[in-house]
Amino acid sequence: MSVQQWNAVDDYFSRSLVKQDAALEAALADSAAAGLPAINVAPNQGKFLNLLARIHGARRILEIGTLGGYSAIWLARALPADGRLVTLEFEPRHVEVAAANLARAGQADKVDIRQGAALDTLAQLIAEGAAPFDLIFIDADKPNNPHYLELALRLSRPGTVIIGDNVVRKGEVVNAASADPAIQGTRRFIELLGANPRLSATALQTVGSKGYDGFALAIVEA
Ligand code: SAM
Repeated sequence: MSVQQWNAVDDYFSRSLVKQDAALEAALADSAAAGLPAINVAPNQGKFLNLLARIHGARRILEIGTLGGYSAIWLARALPADGRLVTLEFEPRHVEVAAANLARAGQADKVDIRQGAALDTLAQLIAEGAAPFDLIFIDADKPNNPHYLELALRLSRPGTVIIGDNVVRKGEVVNAASADPAIQGTRRFIELLGANPRLSATALQTVGSKGYDGFALAIVEA
């Protein structure tokens, strides 16, 4: 098995099933042109998020880590006309690019992009008394994932779905001795998901155009 083969299969699925449109392609092109790193979800992963949100009937979605708004477009498109996506991003340049990409995709009215460190913007949402979210996608700086999970739980209700991206990290997640803060943050995140009686969780390994990685999926119990 090779990375070339994973890419070929991802391309095949994306061509056959995902059918990315001009707004999504332009979002990736403009993000690249603006110098943003290509660390967005892959097209088939974006569609997966979109389907999960629709299967769940999500009306309020929270995303931690906007980048250029690629996954945000997929998530916003899953919402009904009166739905809301709140997406949190630290880098002002990323916010600017994401805002333009979401506007071109016709999703600007449904999306609230909040600039700042997510630990602060999450605390603001809690302080504002924000209504609970139906789905929360955690995809920012991995060392903070344990904190993001704790704060996400304060913005949840029974039935809220929580997804954490990049939890495998080329298999390094099993390296308890890793000195990488992203690995330690991911390991703590997995431990918290497993230990919290309010959560029922699993995680899946994936291969594809984004390499060998995976995501965690949890639901908040009653
Ligand atoms: N969800 C995006 C997508 O798939 O299109 C990709 C998000 S990218 C993996 C992570 C983003 O989190 C980057 O844009 C980065 O600037 C942002 N980020 C990193 N640290 C952050 C922090 N402390 N607070 C908010 N955003 C942060």
